[in-house]
Amino acid sequence: MANMFAFAEARGGELRKVAFETVAAARRAADATGGGEVHALVLGAPGIGDRAAALGTYGADLVMVVEHPALERYSAETFAATAAERLKAGSYRAGFFAASAEGRDLAPRVAARLGLPLASDVTAFEFQGDAVLVQHPGYTGKINLTLRLTGTPAILSLRPGALPVTEAPRTARVERAEPAADPSAARVVVTELAQQTATALDLGEAPVIVSGGRGLRGAEHFKLVEDLAAAFGNAAVGATRAVTDDGWRPATDQIGQTGRVVSPELYVAVGISGAIQHLAGMRTSRTIVAINKDKDAPIFKVADYGIVGDLFEVVPRLTEEVRKAKGR
Ligand SMILES: Cc1cc2nc3c(=O)[nH]c(=O)nc-3n(C[C@H](O)[C@H](O)[C@H](O)COP(=O)(O)OP(=O)(O)OC[C@H]3O[C@@H](n4cnc5c(N)ncnc54)[C@H](O)[C@@H]3O)c2cc1C
Repeated sequence: MANMFAFAEARGGELRKVAFETVAAARRAADATGGGEVHALVLGAPGIGDRAAALGTYGADLVMVVEHPALERYSAETFAATAAERLKAGSYRAGFFAASAEGRDLAPRVAARLGLPLASDVTAFEFQGDAVLVQHPGYTGKINLTLRLTGTPAILSLRPGALPVTEAPRTARVERAEPAADPSAARVVVTELAQQTATALDLGEAPVIVSGGRGLRGAEHFKLVEDLAAAFGNAAVGATRAVTDDGWRPATDQIGQTGRVVSPELYVAVGISGAIQHLAGMRTSRTIVAINKDKDAPIFKVADYGIVGDLFEVVPRLTEEVRKAKGR
C-alpha cells in the first residue's frame, strides 16, 4: 500500500481544472497499488483552503493548505521549496503535477531538489512492481515513448486533459502548513498575469477548441471560427503558428510545438494543413474533426472525422447545425 502526492494548482482564488486531474490520477495510482491515501498540496492566498473539500470529491484523503498573501501568484522558489518539503516528509510512491505552464516549471525544480526521477507531459501511466511505466510523446509527438522510472517517489507531470477525471468522493482532512521558504523574500516575483479577455475560456481548460489556419485567408474571416466556437458555448479559439505569425490572432492562441499543448474533448481544425509542429500540440485531443479542401492534407491522418470541402461553405452550415443541436 502506497500513499500518493498530488500538487493542486490554484489561480485567482479557485482550484484549476488540472488540480482535479492530478488528484484523480493520484487516486487511481493509490487504488492500483493497494489503496493508500492521496495527499494533495495547495498553495494560495488566504481563502484558498475553503476550496479544499472539492479535492475530496476526486479522491484526496488529506489536503495540505499553505496560505499566504504573497502566494496569490506562482512563485517558483516558495512553491518548489514547499512542495519538495512536503513530498520528502510523506514517503510517497509518486508525486503528480500538471504539465501546465506552472507545473512544467515546478515539477523539475522539485525533482532536482530531491534528486528524483521525473517524467514530463505524461499521457498514461501504470505501476509495475517497484517501477512506474509512463507514456510520453517524443519527437514532436511523432512517437509515443514508454519510460520506466525506478526511483521513489517518481515525479510525473500529466498532460492537461489527457487522462480521465473520475470522481471518488471522500471527506478530505485539512491540514494547515507554512511555506518552506519566505514568500516575501523571493528573488523572482510574478507581478501580473495578463489575461486576454475576462470571459474567454483558457485553451488548457476548454472542453472544445475550434482552431483556424491559413486556409481562412485573413484575420477578418476568423469570425467564422469564433461563431462556431460560440455555437458550442464551451469552446475556446485556437490558431496555427502561420496565423499568429501573420498577426491574425494573438500569439497566446497558438497551438503546437512552440505554442500551447492541448487535449480537449473535441478539437475542430478549420483550414489547417496538419504540419507536424501543429499536431504536436493537439494530437492527443479526444476527438478531432478536420475541415480542409485538400483531401490529402496531413490533418486527416489524425482526424476522427474529416470534411473535405471549402471551409467558407462548410463552417457556416456546421455552425447552424451546432446551434440547432444546442437549441441556441
Ligand atoms: C521550429 C518550428 C516550430 C513551429 N511551431 C509551430 C506551432 O507551434 N504551431 C503551428 O501551428 N505551427 C508551427 N510551425 C509551423 C508549421 O510548420 C506550419 O507552417 C503551420 O502549422 C502551418 O499552418 P496552417 O496549417 O495554418 O497553414 P498551411 O500549412 O498553409 O495550411 C493551410 C491549409 O488550409 C487549407 N485550405 C486553404 N483554403 C481552404 C478552404 N477554402 N477551405 C478549406 N481548407 C482550405 C489548405 O488545403 C491547407 O491544408 C512551426 C514551424 C517550425 C519550423
